[in-house]
Amino acid sequence: MRKRLAQGVGVLASCSRSWPMKDIRDDLRACTICAEKFAATATAHRPNPVVWFAPGARILIASQAPGLRVHEANTPFWDASGKRLRDWLGVDEVTFYDRSKVAIIPMGFCFPGYDAKGGDLPPPPVCWKTWRQAALDMVPDVRLTILIGGYAMKYHLPDFTKVTEAVAGWRDHPPGVFALPHPSWRNTGWLKKNPWFEAEVLPRLRAAVSEVLND
Ligand code: SF4
Repeated sequence: MRKRLAQGVGVLASCSRSWPMKDIRDDLRACTICAEKFAATATAHRPNPVVWFAPGARILIASQAPGLRVHEANTPFWDASGKRLRDWLGVDEVTFYDRSKVAIIPMGFCFPGYDAKGGDLPPPPVCWKTWRQAALDMVPDVRLTILIGGYAMKYHLPDFTKVTEAVAGWRDHPPGVFALPHPSWRNTGWLKKNPWFEAEVLPRLRAAVSEVLND
C-alpha cells in the first residue's frame, strides 16, 4: 500500500523531480474509450472527461466519478456534494477549485450514466487502468490524500474491506491519508448513524487541510 501511495501522493516528492513529468491532460480530455458504452446508456451521452489537476497541488481528492451535473458543468463537485465536501474540509470555493493547491482525480473521469434504478453506474475500470497512474504522476507534491468512496479506497488501500471501516480506521492509514464517505445527500443517513465521523474525523481532517495549505 505504501508503495502505491508513495507514487500517488508524492511522499517521495524530493525524488520525483528527477524524472520527466508527462503532461497527459490534453490526451485525457480527448479520450473517447467509453464512447460506445456511454451511448448505450439512458442518457446516451458522449465522454466528457472532467480534468482538474495541475502540478504543484498539495492536496489530492481521489474521488469516484462525475455525476450528470458535473458532466454538464465540466467542473468537479459542482453540486450539493461539493458544498458538503468543502464544509468537511473547511475550505472555501476559491481554494477548493484552485488547481495549484487541490487536485481532483476521480477513478473515472467521465459521467458513467445511470443504472436501472436511477443511481450512478460505477466508474469504468478501463479508466483507472488507462489514466490513473499517469494522472497521479503529475501531482508529485501531494502531501494529503483524501479518498472518497469505495472505488478510490479499494485502489489506494489494499486492505480495504468496507467504507465505514476505512473511514473509522483513520488512525491506521499512512500519514496524510483520510478516507471519507461520499458527501452525497444519499449518505445523510450514514452520517446520522455514525456521529463519530463529524465529532472525531472532521476536526482532524480540517486541521490537516489547514496545515498543508498554510505551510
Ligand atoms: S471514463 Fe475514462 S476511459 Fe472512459 S472515456 Fe472517459 S476518460 Fe476515457
